[in-house]
Amino acid sequence: MTEKSYISSAPLYQNALFQLEKASKVTDVDPNCIERLKTPKRAIQVSIPIRLDDGTIKTFEGYRVQHNMTLGPGKGGIRFHKHVNLSETAALAMLMTFKCSLVGLPLGGAKGGVKVDPSLLSRQELQGMARRYATEIGPFIGPGMDIPAPDIGTDGQIMAWFMDTYSQVKGHAIPGVVTGKPIAIGGSLGRRDSTGKGVAFCVQFACEKLNKKIDSSTRVAIHGFGKVAIPAALDLSELGAKICAVSDVSGGIYNSNGLDLNKILEFSKSRKLLSEYDGECEFISNEDLLELDVDILIPAAIDGVITKNNAEKIKATIIAEGANGPCTQEAVDILTEKGVFIIPDILCNAGGVIVSYFEWVQGVQQLFWDLDHINSRLHSILKESFENVYNTRQKYNTDMKTAAMSASVKRLAKAMRLRGMWP
Ligand code: GLU
Repeated sequence: MTEKSYISSAPLYQNALFQLEKASKVTDVDPNCIERLKTPKRAIQVSIPIRLDDGTIKTFEGYRVQHNMTLGPGKGGIRFHKHVNLSETAALAMLMTFKCSLVGLPLGGAKGGVKVDPSLLSRQELQGMARRYATEIGPFIGPGMDIPAPDIGTDGQIMAWFMDTYSQVKGHAIPGVVTGKPIAIGGSLGRRDSTGKGVAFCVQFACEKLNKKIDSSTRVAIHGFGKVAIPAALDLSELGAKICAVSDVSGGIYNSNGLDLNKILEFSKSRKLLSEYDGECEFISNEDLLELDVDILIPAAIDGVITKNNAEKIKATIIAEGANGPCTQEAVDILTEKGVFIIPDILCNAGGVIVSYFEWVQGVQQLFWDLDHINSRLHSILKESFENVYNTRQKYNTDMKTAAMSASVKRLAKAMRLRGMWP
């Protein structure tokens, strides 16, 4: 195991390293490639001073980490969250490398973030934040170098401000510098819902493999109710499953007969917290939601929610990792031992970056695809990747997490060997 340094200090980073080491033992990947993948290629820290509405200036800390760019330009979201730090950003960049490689994209892995609670900023302050961050990391990004996208706390509007700032500096419009943009400035149809849609596709593939039908007896609990959770919930409910629980920062709502999703969506337009929801439900904590007696559990909010402390109490037989890193390595070991089928994050939530790739390709060609074409290509890439991970699992008699990492690293190692190392 590599010596712990500042960049590798976050639990999420240690978790990723552990998975990498485990995967390298299962398959015969060149140890020199594994060694190179343990640390990021480049990590940029920037200071972001913004003028608050009251006239004072406040400085925030921002990062962009490019983990590996062997397969193509760096790709990965920008997170605005109060817990962002360099090590966690680096871990997420590493996961992006493995995600892009696993699903066969010609892209590397990167991630960015600012340590800020965006809910405390006004729209004007948020715009200042997005623009100054874009200016500071501007020299290190670009459509052929590193392409940011939305992540927790960021959205299409922030991508629009980001793209505008970058373009102003260069003197002409460069939509390809970000993905997840609004359609009106070169975004792609289907990008907004793509991560959640991909989660629902992967749940279907898993059910097929396990000979489980999705119908009204299928109970689903979703940790989260945001960009990933909502489309996943809607798609699974359309297939007949009962969405029994969802949650936000204020806690969860539960109904064993299934929640009324349309009513919750209508309610959430008022930006109120779920703890104020007035529909038919029981209020539960986020912790209780994870341990509900359901068939499918989708942690789709943040990392590290399923740990050695609660893994034993999980009742779901399928866990679909909608978030990045929701299960710690210790939890994965306990769950695997219990026979839980885990759909790994780098596969399960790859729908977002896959449609980001489509957006980038459409932008380069200036030729835009219709939604059916986008969703059917998304489906086929995920299906093929799922089969690859499942077959790797069978071949090496291992778990899905290790299989996904092995399959990903195998492709990456081949490319790294071919490009060689210079000097
Ligand atoms: N933030 C998303 C992820 O974690 C999407 C990244 C992208 O589209 O580049 O996969």
